[in-house]
Amino acid sequence: MGDLVVEVDVAVVGGGPGGYSAAFRCAELGLETVVVDGGKRLGGACLFEGCIPSKALLHVAALIEDAERARELGVDFGEPRVSLDPLRKWKSERVVGRLARGLASVAKAKGVDVIGGRAVFESSRELYVEGDEPQKVRFKHAIVATGSAPARLPGLSLAGERVMDSTAALELGEVPERLLVIGGGYIGLELGQVYAALGSQVTVVEMTDELLPGVDRALVQPLARRCEKLFAKIHLGTKVTSLLEKGSAIEARLEPGDAQTFDRVLVAVGRRPASAGLGLEHTRASADARGFVTVNDRCRTADPAIYAVGDVTGEPMLAHRAMRQGKVAAEVIAGRPAAFDNVVVPAVVFTDPEVAWCGLTESDAAREGRTVKIAKREWAASGRALTLGRSDGLTKILADPDTGRVLGVGIVGPGAGELIAEGALAIETAMTVEDLAVTIHTHPTLSETLMEAAESLLQQAR
Ligand code: FAD
Ligand code: NAD
Repeated sequence: MGDLVVEVDVAVVGGGPGGYSAAFRCAELGLETVVVDGGKRLGGACLFEGCIPSKALLHVAALIEDAERARELGVDFGEPRVSLDPLRKWKSERVVGRLARGLASVAKAKGVDVIGGRAVFESSRELYVEGDEPQKVRFKHAIVATGSAPARLPGLSLAGERVMDSTAALELGEVPERLLVIGGGYIGLELGQVYAALGSQVTVVEMTDELLPGVDRALVQPLARRCEKLFAKIHLGTKVTSLLEKGSAIEARLEPGDAQTFDRVLVAVGRRPASAGLGLEHTRASADARGFVTVNDRCRTADPAIYAVGDVTGEPMLAHRAMRQGKVAAEVIAGRPAAFDNVVVPAVVFTDPEVAWCGLTESDAAREGRTVKIAKREWAASGRALTLGRSDGLTKILADPDTGRVLGVGIVGPGAGELIAEGALAIETAMTVEDLAVTIHTHPTLSETLMEAAESLLQQAR
């Protein structure tokens, strides 16, 4: 008997946010669509090992930290006692499981089938799906949405459950007494804060001279100050040159520095695209030297039948970018005039305090030799920030000096991840600083800091 053959309009490879957004939009536009996913489920890295479980654990960390801060306000809840079993159960069943069931029922309602197995392109028209029930999927169009996987540390070969990537760290097998975090980027700082709140002594080793390299220093500073308090030690400009098992512990050699002993290690040094072994060489689609699939602003690869979206197409590797690209690819396949022509992809680091930004940054402007006007609003002057006991924030706006258009927004402080949506909307809709300044913002809110920063930019103009 030959392999089962399924014929569809669109085959989506990968069921993460890029893949399921693409598939749902294809189905809405009347295209017969299947998703092939290695785990036979929708959600991808974002739902099962990324955004959602990490934000659930960060919420728990915030609860612990808020309870600690409450002492200053005269409210004492006593020492927190964390029970890992109920915490894991809540994260996995009530948060991740519930969202996974939701996505499965949306797929069913829209008529999108999910096939389990690893897909490999055999040609520009056909995929082979490996797995328990091998089958072929013949398609008119395919969308590659295979995402990314944690990068490994070159030269450090130690494996085992004591050396974790972000997926293992999110499982919360135990709260180690001493945790080494390699990488002071998004994951290192988010999960470092989670483990510190749960009781680990966290040491962060970052290769460059700064935490969150590339992000505006004025925004990172309040976070860096918080991390200095929360973490046992932060080593900047430092590399881990070896990891050795010493009994039940791990000895890490730091360069510069000495050997130090830890109970667990979290490696968070970036992610790499999941494009190897996909069989792209049997199509006309191509990838760059790092393995990112090359696409244009329609999410088209060099093969007219094949599109690609999400992390596998490059930076920034963020779920909301993947989702937008997924919808664009679906619309383009359906013959609609869509393009991934967004002016900004906002970014949020969900630490305490949160750091969020979109559009032009001060260092981008300096690099491009571009003259900009900049306003900074310290949260120490915000009524709302003081009522929350949090004056450690800053709102920053960059604008074009001639047109007054908002070009960039950066925010640090609790809730920055929600507030940045206003900045993204302002830039995407070509708002001017005056538009922001004259829009009535509710009082007392942190959103007023955007209005006030805009007002101070207007005053600079006079
Ligand atoms: P993925 O979500 O990676 O999904 C790809 C899917 O394809 C997977 O299910 C995979 O099994 C499947 N697959 C791969 N190859 C094949 C194949 N050959 N055949 C069949 N199936 C295949 N982003 C944010 O925007 N906000 C956050 O707060 C955030 N937090 C994060 C926290 C962590 C710890 C991590 C690791 C990431 C986080 N991200 C966050 C990034 C976010 O998870 C990714 O940007 C997003 O998941 C990318 O979506 P995607 O659809 O491109 O791919
Ligand atoms: P990252 O790129 O954010 O940070 C990696 C850090 O590791 C960098 O600061 C880098 O300088 C450092 N580094 C690299 N090699 C090193 C070495 N040998 N020794 C010490 N430090 C080293 O990557 P990440 O934290 O692994 O996260 C991966 C991606 O996942 C992010 O870039 C982002 O796209 C996504 N993500 C997003 C969120 C969010 O949106 N809130 C959260 C987590 C992850």
